[in-house]
Amino acid sequence: MSFQEKYPRHYYANYEQVEITDGTDWFRVYRLPGDVYAITEPKHCQEVNSFLIIGSQRALLWDTGEGFFDITEVARNLYSGEIIAANSHSHFDHIGCNHRFDHVLAYDDPQARYTAERGAPHGLFADQLNPDMFIGGYPEGLDPGTFFVPPYRIRTVRDGQQIDLGDRLLEVIHTPGHSPDSMMLLDRTEGILFTGDTFYQAALYAHFDCPEFGKSNLTDYLDSMERIQSRIGECKALYCSHNDLIASPDRIKEAADAIRGILNGTCREKLIVDLRHVYLEDGTAIVEYPFRGFSIVCRD
Ligand SMILES: [Zn+2]
Repeated sequence: MSFQEKYPRHYYANYEQVEITDGTDWFRVYRLPGDVYAITEPKHCQEVNSFLIIGSQRALLWDTGEGFFDITEVARNLYSGEIIAANSHSHFDHIGCNHRFDHVLAYDDPQARYTAERGAPHGLFADQLNPDMFIGGYPEGLDPGTFFVPPYRIRTVRDGQQIDLGDRLLEVIHTPGHSPDSMMLLDRTEGILFTGDTFYQAALYAHFDCPEFGKSNLTDYLDSMERIQSRIGECKALYCSHNDLIASPDRIKEAADAIRGILNGTCREKLIVDLRHVYLEDGTAIVEYPFRGFSIVCRD
């Protein structure tokens, strides 16, 4: 079933929508438990979620969206104080408004520096800018013929570093696998783990190998999930960067088991992935292993 046929996703009905006046009809905002807003872009096939995490001194925007429209306008609608930004990783669909910040926090990895210096050039978007990747055609104000993400500045963070929002500390956890610069944020006060692209309830990608996306690594992915599993007792919920907004912490063990099964060859059921999932790849066959509520896409 195509992305178009699945719209609107049933799970948005589980969340409290917040009206915003940013002058576009692009974003949808939901108020989540623990003083967090999800800023979603449901009308593009990536169905990306960014999160505004509110502290007593400042707020943190966890990823800056696709960049088709200005997510900072939305964030300022929701919070009037200082807003800092951090990236779950530097794939194009999470960095779109990075250039609107003086700097963005990113994991200390060459992949993050590579993308910061270049942004995401128009050519990188390829079929992502085809009309059938958008619900209702192109949104007014987006020029699909020229769109690109400008370069931006980063300040790097390391594993274990705490980001201070006032009454709320967010711990950086390095979770390479999907990309080498992937990280999560653990909010121990509210028991929320912000998982980025390392876990969400849809196809998880572990097949990348090109300068723009970095190299995925399934062994690193498993190590990351096992590390996260050891911390999961501190979590009440996973807040995910694509598709459904919230997942149960139990899913981390399921994902770790799934990756282990692929690596040790006990997981045999797999599908050949259609070519729409191949971004700037060398043509190697990639396969998709289905699991309960998510799948893992990797090289055969
Ligand atoms: Zn990604």
